[in-house]
Amino acid sequence: MEPTLRLRGIISNLRGEGGFAFLAKARELKENGKPVVNLSIGQPDVPTPDPVIEEAVKALSEDKFTGYTETPGIPEIRKAIAEYLNERYGADVSWEEVVVTPGTKGAIFLALSAYLDYGDEIIVPEPSYPAYPEGTKILGGKPVYVPLEWRGPSKGFGLDLEKIEETITSRTKFIVVNNPQNPTGALFSPKELEELTEIARRHGVMILADEIYDNFVYDDAEFESLISMPGWREWLVYTNGFSKTFSMTGWRLGYVVVRREVARLLSKIAVSVWGCPVSFGQKAAVRALRDPDVWKWVEKLSKRYGEMRQVLYEELSKTPGVEAYLSRGAYYLFPRIKQVEEETGLSTEEIVNYIVNNYYLIILPGGVFPDKAGKDFIRFSFATNRKAVSEGGKRFRQAITSLLENKTRK
Ligand code: PMP
Repeated sequence: MEPTLRLRGIISNLRGEGGFAFLAKARELKENGKPVVNLSIGQPDVPTPDPVIEEAVKALSEDKFTGYTETPGIPEIRKAIAEYLNERYGADVSWEEVVVTPGTKGAIFLALSAYLDYGDEIIVPEPSYPAYPEGTKILGGKPVYVPLEWRGPSKGFGLDLEKIEETITSRTKFIVVNNPQNPTGALFSPKELEELTEIARRHGVMILADEIYDNFVYDDAEFESLISMPGWREWLVYTNGFSKTFSMTGWRLGYVVVRREVARLLSKIAVSVWGCPVSFGQKAAVRALRDPDVWKWVEKLSKRYGEMRQVLYEELSKTPGVEAYLSRGAYYLFPRIKQVEEETGLSTEEIVNYIVNNYYLIILPGGVFPDKAGKDFIRFSFATNRKAVSEGGKRFRQAITSLLENKTRK
């Protein structure tokens, strides 16, 4: 075999991020003039707020802030992040414990690369955002999945603490906690989080926290950040980022918070991989964190998404054969369609393909979120406008109704 084709074995086992394929499909349908409604995207429907953009422009055109920066980020952004976490969550983070990264994905990968030896395991509650298991596989580690507990349409998903504890082995390094959770929209209760941290402590394993959706919590539900827990330095590697809160997905800015001596070591990895995060973007991110008008914008956005969630939920609840749970965080609804599958004999993927191709509604089959527990579910994003969610919900209801009727007629 030619040497350029001799890749590491693990590379052919990567699943990538299934959602991206549907973006290509949406583009193709649009180019063919179809009236596409896209509820598959995990990013806000509005651009970054103006003051943040203005700050980046100023950093470029006036300050000519175009060079490399310190590897863990300029002190201003590290201080602004520490202050934000401390004020918001009553945490005690020092700015030297913050490492700024290219996106939260960069933060996750950096954390994994610092700790995983070949064959080490991470416990991934599933269905999961793919970056944790995929990053682990790239590094030669092993994702071990534990299904979230489906507690029915009124309660949604929760952590299966018993199963998580049973799954810990001598190779386990991390338990992943994404809260609020993508793709289920679950918000884990302070009690279950406290119990989980007890388990982690007892077994000497770490928690890898991803709280990227912490500004999208609805119905005044109680959100507990793991960074607020006493003694976090012993067992927590915390990640978050700017993509969702400030609609900055394309800026690629995230961060890791970890005890000081480890933060220093993370920089030693990062300096050889990406050198530093984007320079002018860091200045803009400081503005995002410190400008009260930007925070008002965030609050308004979150409130609007809370309303969109309700609009979409009502449509889904009226759909026969569909069990919808009113999510309490992130910006996803993840209804279960098992009954539709049973009545039509179709799989979730077949149902989604039918809807995409005939109703031009782009949604994601739960199976694209590793590993298997999402298979009878569909993910809808409601990070968009009223017209889209209400039209999308209606098309979904029509599509499912028509599938069920055709089945009965046969
Ligand atoms: N974590 C979760 C749970 C996400 O949903 C996403 C984005 N879809 C990310 C991390 C990645 O965010 P970023 O753009 O900061 O890399």
